[in-house]
Amino acid sequence: MARVVIIGAGLTGLSVAYNLEQQGFFDYAIFEQESTVGGLCRSIRCDGFTFDYTGHFFHSPSAHMIDFLHTIMQNSSLSAHIRHSYIYSHDTYTPYPYQTNLYGLPTETIIDCIMGFVQRQTHKKNGNFYTWIHTHFGSGFARHFFFPYQEKIFDYPVSKLRTGWVQGVPHTTLEAILKGALQERVVDSIGYNAQFWYPTHGGIDHLIHAFGHALKNPLYTNCSAVVLDTHKKIVTFSNGHSEPYEYLISTIPLKTCLDILGMKKEADKLLVNSVLNINIGIDCDIADQKHWVYYPEKKHPFFRIGFPSHLRGMAPEGYSSLSIEIATLKKPTPEIIGNLTKKTYEHLEKIFGIQPRDIVSEQTLVLPHAYVIYNLWREEHIDSLLRYLENQSIYSIGRYGGWKYASMHDAITDGHSMAQKLIAHFSATFKPATTVKQKPAHIPAITKKPGRRLIKEIS
Ligand SMILES: Cc1cc2nc3c(=O)[nH]c(=O)nc-3n(C[C@H](O)[C@H](O)[C@H](O)COP(=O)(O)OP(=O)(O)OC[C@H]3O[C@@H](n4cnc5c(N)ncnc54)[C@H](O)[C@@H]3O)c2cc1C
Repeated sequence: MARVVIIGAGLTGLSVAYNLEQQGFFDYAIFEQESTVGGLCRSIRCDGFTFDYTGHFFHSPSAHMIDFLHTIMQNSSLSAHIRHSYIYSHDTYTPYPYQTNLYGLPTETIIDCIMGFVQRQTHKKNGNFYTWIHTHFGSGFARHFFFPYQEKIFDYPVSKLRTGWVQGVPHTTLEAILKGALQERVVDSIGYNAQFWYPTHGGIDHLIHAFGHALKNPLYTNCSAVVLDTHKKIVTFSNGHSEPYEYLISTIPLKTCLDILGMKKEADKLLVNSVLNINIGIDCDIADQKHWVYYPEKKHPFFRIGFPSHLRGMAPEGYSSLSIEIATLKKPTPEIIGNLTKKTYEHLEKIFGIQPRDIVSEQTLVLPHAYVIYNLWREEHIDSLLRYLENQSIYSIGRYGGWKYASMHDAITDGHSMAQKLIAHFSATFKPATTVKQKPAHIPAITKKPGRRLIKEIS
């Protein structure tokens, strides 16, 4: 038995493990359902191209966090980038964010946005996104950008969305709007990700490998948690292996955790969409220095396209790559994927002139859990659900464990806080170890996976 069992080896689970080990605590075991660890921070490599599970750029408000990343990544360095992101509407590219870069848009759109901002009613408050946008930005910005864009990224009506996730939306002033309407800008340094960091040699999975290499305990893959006995405190995996625990740290989606616990009614109320991520490599250069572009207009099926090839090590010399993101609240069946892919290719031809013969590599990924829907039910029940689990010694954390909108910075921070909490719980009985604890005798034999030091598989 390990005192602490972690399920899910994405960035949050790995951060818990890392931070426990840093405190000299090795009495834990970590289990992952996939054959490789990293969750959303994995990368795939094919035909000389590298793609993430949609672009993953590290941004952080904390210099301390960036120092930590540089330390943990050691051999595989991290480069800083100034964001070049745009919005494509009315056949025009304008720099992100929309609210401070109206220059180049049709005159009526600019007037609509400015008039709407001036006439907005700032006193209205009712906690939904529709009203929040109207009170902060006015009807023009709502109609031309925020509502169509958010309805695409969530695939959910804005009138039913709550505002628990809006802290990343940059605010503005009349002066900033007017300046951005009269002056053309190439980049704008507003917002939480104006500067970001990315592994110099390409692929966000370098960050995951850095955590993997730093850990001394094994990581168990191909272990999908399927049964949770909260009375006996045992978690059982799809391969039949059972692991008793004192504390369970769940970084798997809260919805899955509730399902496993038989709380189907609550699980069904939690909504999350999926993202279809079509990645293509092409043998021509199509998009100057843009890192990514937002597509608010309904006619385009995608909400965002990233250009990984503008980062070093992501594509062969002379080739480009595109990472296209489409959100759907419906289960992405092969039929839905087929239709969306067909529409996407039609629009890629219209916007970039990309023909099927230009495509030299194609990788389609489905992210079954992408954007948590901040509906009223979530707002009213999330805290009590998490508290209920804590009373059963289950800490549900991370982007999907906490059922929230969160970044990689947040995942690492959540893992750190959780480890601190556990160490505090154990402080009376625990003496920091200087050596690694032995593998528990009851865990079946482990096979080393090629190329993945310390990543092990239970068969
Ligand atoms: C489209 C998209 C783009 C993003 N872009 C950025 C970005 O540019 N910058 C940024 O900072 N953040 C970005 N993020 C957020 C970032 O990906 C997350 O905050 C972070 O990766 C979450 O890590 P996690 O460990 O909490 O979750 P996950 O990565 O989901 O890890 C959970 C793990 O649990 C495993 N698991 C699930 N069920 C089971 C089970 N039953 N048993 C065992 N294991 C299980 C999963 O396989 C997975 O490995 C993006 C997210 C999305 C969806």
